[in-house]
Amino acid sequence: MPSDSSKLAIQQHPSPNCDERPDDIVIDTVVLHATVLNTLDEVIKHFSNPVSKVSAHYTIDRDGTIAAHVPERGRAWHAGRSKVKDGRTNVNDFSIGIELVNQNDGMDPFPEQQIEAMRGLLKSILARYPIKHIIPHYECAEPPGRKSDPIAFDLAWIDGLLK
Ligand SMILES: [Zn+2]
Repeated sequence: MPSDSSKLAIQQHPSPNCDERPDDIVIDTVVLHATVLNTLDEVIKHFSNPVSKVSAHYTIDRDGTIAAHVPERGRAWHAGRSKVKDGRTNVNDFSIGIELVNQNDGMDPFPEQQIEAMRGLLKSILARYPIKHIIPHYECAEPPGRKSDPIAFDLAWIDGLLK
């Protein structure tokens, strides 16, 4: 089966917590998250449980392992109530959600291997979609202040990716 990002080693851990994007939507945004959960195993359990009603397209572990939960063409449930700076709401409709395993306590570090894997995944996504925005979840959560993740993420780590 062809994967979305064939050059990257991606483990498949499907989530039922997804549905279809609106017709004719253009995927132009990536939303970055921190899991709060401390391990990839916990995230996989949480996203595979229909009761949680949450998911993301990808989770990247501390060691750079990438897990895929929802096909990119599907709508994952990661951003919740949300709005981007240009005024569009329901960010899940037009975004890809990437979770980074991190406790989001402001102290838990993002290891270099994790950031490198994220940049590789982002480059792969940027090669396939007209991405205009890569934003932290806290920037689009509604009401403002509802989410703090990824709190200790340095935006310099995504410098140079968007043309
Ligand atoms: Zn989030």
